[in-house]
Amino acid sequence: MSVNIAIDGPAGAGKSTIAKAVSKKLGYIYVDTGALYRSVAYTMLRDGISPKDAAKVEEKLSSLDKNYFSLGFIDGAQHVFAGSEDVSDKIRTPEVSMGASDVSAIPYVRKFLFELQRSIAAENNVIMDGRDIGTVVLPNADVKIYLTASAEVRADRRYKELAEKENCPTFEQVLADIKQRDYNDMHRETAPLKKADDAVLADTSDVDLDGAIRLILDIIKKSR
Ligand code: C5P
Repeated sequence: MSVNIAIDGPAGAGKSTIAKAVSKKLGYIYVDTGALYRSVAYTMLRDGISPKDAAKVEEKLSSLDKNYFSLGFIDGAQHVFAGSEDVSDKIRTPEVSMGASDVSAIPYVRKFLFELQRSIAAENNVIMDGRDIGTVVLPNADVKIYLTASAEVRADRRYKELAEKENCPTFEQVLADIKQRDYNDMHRETAPLKKADDAVLADTSDVDLDGAIRLILDIIKKSR
C-alpha cells in the first residue's frame, strides 16, 4: 500500500515549497494538484474561452481525451502537460491563477481531474497538495495537514516571487488577488477549501522556510 500525505491550505501558504522539500527528504513523489486546475484555466484562455463560462468550459473539457492533462516527473520535478504541450511555466501567471480559481468552482472540472489525482496516489508514495485533498480526493490519507499563514504574510511571499518576473503587480494587487482567491476557494459549493476534521493545523506566519519544513516533518513523524 502506498503512503499518502495530504497538505491543504490557502494560496501562498508555502505548500508547494514545503511539500517539495519534505518529499525529497522522505523520497516521496510531490504532486501539486493546483497545477492541474491551472492547466485547465490555461487551456481555456488559450482557446478563447472565459474560465467563468461553466457551460463553455464543460463543453471544451468533454471534447478532450480524459488523459489530456497529465503529470510527468523529470529529475524529480513535476511537469504538467496539456496534450503534448509542457505548460509548467505558462501556468504561473496572475491571469491563470485567477482563471484556475474560477474553473475550480465548476463541478465538471473537479470530476474531470479527480481520477488522475486518485490514481497517482494509489500507485505512489505521495505528498499531494491542494485545497480538497484531505477532505475529498484522499479522505483516507495517512497524514493530513492544513497549512496556513495570514493573508498579509502570504501576499508578501507571493509578491517577492513575482518581483523577479516581468510585469510584476503591486503588493496591493497581490494581496487583493490572494483575498479574492481565498474567498472563492472557501465559498464554492463543490469541495470548498476547509480543514478536514482529522487534519493537523500548521500556521507558518511566524516561521521561516526551514522552520516550516521542520514543523511539517515533525507532524508527519508524530502522525505515523
Ligand atoms: O495551489 P494553486 O494556487 O496553484 O492552485 C490554483 C487554484 O486551483 C486555487 O486557487 C484553487 O482554486 C484551485 N485548486 C483547487 N483544488 C485543488 C488545488 C487547486 O480548487 N486541489
